[in-house]
Amino acid sequence: MGDSKRRPLARRRSVLLGMAGLATTVLAGCADTGSGPVAPDRDVATEQSRPTGPATPPPSVSARSSEQAAAALAQPTAKPPAVPDKQKILAEFAGRQPKEWGLHVTGVVNDSPAKQVALTFDACGGPGGSGCDQALLQTLRKLHVPATLFVNSRWIHANPGLAAELAADPLFELANHGTSHLPLSVNGKSAYGITGTATASAAYDELMGNQAVMLDTFGKSPRFFRPGTAFYDDVTAAMTHRLGMLPVNFTVNGDGGATFPAATVATEVGRAGPGDIVISHFNKPAGATAEGYGRALPRLLDKGVSFARLGDVLKP
Ligand SMILES: [Zn+2]
Repeated sequence: MGDSKRRPLARRRSVLLGMAGLATTVLAGCADTGSGPVAPDRDVATEQSRPTGPATPPPSVSARSSEQAAAALAQPTAKPPAVPDKQKILAEFAGRQPKEWGLHVTGVVNDSPAKQVALTFDACGGPGGSGCDQALLQTLRKLHVPATLFVNSRWIHANPGLAAELAADPLFELANHGTSHLPLSVNGKSAYGITGTATASAAYDELMGNQAVMLDTFGKSPRFFRPGTAFYDDVTAAMTHRLGMLPVNFTVNGDGGATFPAATVATEVGRAGPGDIVISHFNKPAGATAEGYGRALPRLLDKGVSFARLGDVLKP
């Protein structure tokens, strides 16, 4: 990576500014996929109250998590950091007042120092959000383009066979997209009409409920996290780090929550360059995401752009 070039600040800033105009679209789309057309509170509350995994992993989980993380990093001699239990996390974070709320708060990683582009696709689960865009996955496989797939607990429960298939495919890396697909807050801040987690305890459960589900299901702890709606505060971003995951967002909005037409997807994805992290969705097969990527990826490959999973370009 010694020859990696960071894009000039001015260009990156223009991407971020452009993204701000698209943010409502992308996150509204993400919210749609998570909890119905307008994410009614009742649905959110129902999902929030439905246990999807142990809120506090058993002691063996941390040990297994550490072993898996070390294996994944191919650094058998490295000693992975221990993941604090819920009691320790609450002692550390309860009472802390957040200063920031949004997509790009302190502690959230939005790009990488690598020369590759990191494509990320969310599967939000819930009513209307538990599909799978097979055409998109087929395009990625055909072109040998790797990607990181952020999956929610509800999507895993709705697609157990497919989830296992994706976990076993070396082209893909699975990451944590939350337990109930909630904005990650310590004081109940909202995003796109969805009330976020209301306490440090609830934020811990949103992070670690799905982490436990994924460890139990796939035998491996994810190393990256993105919440439903992609909203964090700075306290929950710090909590995510303490729990052994990198809180990740994006520099390029690829599909606007699977609402963009194919031409817009192709244009937006086509902007990606070294160090960019692109957000899109693979749970909305009726959208134009697959068609847009089908146009953009061959062009990017022809230009010499290369792709990597987050785990290849970022280390928690
Ligand atoms: Zn989502």
